[in-house]
Amino acid sequence: VFVKVVQAPEDPILGVTVAYNKDTSPNKLNLGVGAYRTEEGKPLVLNVVRRAEQMLVNDLSRVKEYLPIVGLAEFNKLSAKLIFGADSPAIQENRVTTVQCLSGTGSLRVGGEFLARHYHQLTIFIPAPTWGNHIKVFTLAGLNVKTYRYYDPATRGLDFHGLLEDLGAAPAGSIVLLHACAHNPTGVDPTPEQWEQIRQLIRSKAHLPFFDSAYQGFASGSLDADAQSVRMFVADGGECLMAQSYAKNMGLYGERVGALSIVCKTADVASRVESQLKLVIRPMYSNPPIHGASIVATILKDSDMYNEWTIELKAMADRIITMRKQLFDALSARGTPGDWSHIIKQIGMFTFTGLNSEQVAFMTKEYHIYMTSDGRISMAGLSSKTVPHLADAIHAAVTR
Ligand code: PMP
Repeated sequence: VFVKVVQAPEDPILGVTVAYNKDTSPNKLNLGVGAYRTEEGKPLVLNVVRRAEQMLVNDLSRVKEYLPIVGLAEFNKLSAKLIFGADSPAIQENRVTTVQCLSGTGSLRVGGEFLARHYHQLTIFIPAPTWGNHIKVFTLAGLNVKTYRYYDPATRGLDFHGLLEDLGAAPAGSIVLLHACAHNPTGVDPTPEQWEQIRQLIRSKAHLPFFDSAYQGFASGSLDADAQSVRMFVADGGECLMAQSYAKNMGLYGERVGALSIVCKTADVASRVESQLKLVIRPMYSNPPIHGASIVATILKDSDMYNEWTIELKAMADRIITMRKQLFDALSARGTPGDWSHIIKQIGMFTFTGLNSEQVAFMTKEYHIYMTSDGRISMAGLSSKTVPHLADAIHAAVTR
């Protein structure tokens, strides 16, 4: 019966790894997927995560019963505190509802479906460019996806003027997707002053901000600093949505642990919103998995473990920053034509190199280096050993 089913294309990001796995070269390098690697190129399980898992295994009172539809209550509370701040008035006033979801993606999807059912505006503006999955997630959730200008290829920085113009021209009440920090794929974030102007514009147009926080702690190494943009919006008393992921900052990629929070005007509204979120979740996957959320809750509620986590998190962030410096220095040493300062200016896991798809294809063919065709490289996939190989490849690609 399925004979007419046509072959679907690979996912543009995950497909990079498929191609990489097929390559037999000993020099192959995967800079496509945004997963952290050690200096030795190995995936990392944080020590504090191992410790939390041990504690969970040793606790024989733990059972495998279903979680409630909204997930682990303790995890939800701690997640809201982590992103909004322990002293957040919105939390103290019980105006925030938080539900455990399947990592960042699931949080975006549940949030999108809730908005499609209960919000008066169905258009969501996402930055151009953005993480490719945003378009599909929100379209399938039932929203109309439009873009606002974000990145300026000429400066390899923020197109701040274009951003303000587009959000200013958007119909009042539009949903606006914002990357809380470490914008993917560009690594370009607004300054605090620019965030303040964005906030004023969004509030004056009665737009609804929907934050995607996939890299808290990964950008600067500080969990609080990377939440500043979000906290600015919550501090003004207005509404927003927040999709949180623990994939990167706790290295819990495959555990699929994240949270959707909706900040409302009153506790009463928040409670009704939560009741409707349950109606979105129940027919989708019934209730979320228990293990990842238990790891996160174990770490967040214990001050010792929390501190250990912040140290390990900072070490990951610092290694990425070091890779930026090393790559920049290696290109300078080679006299590679062009201004490469954006490599050290951009923030977070990715560098948006400015290499075009032809140059990317050349680097893959001749140097066995894999990345998305938009020229995005994952700095977390680099090491001191592989920087020279990448610098050689970039040099060859731009001087060809
Ligand atoms: N948003 C952004 C901007 C991302 O980069 C990612 C991960 N690549 C996600 C959301 C979601 O990731 P996950 O579902 O693994 O948490």
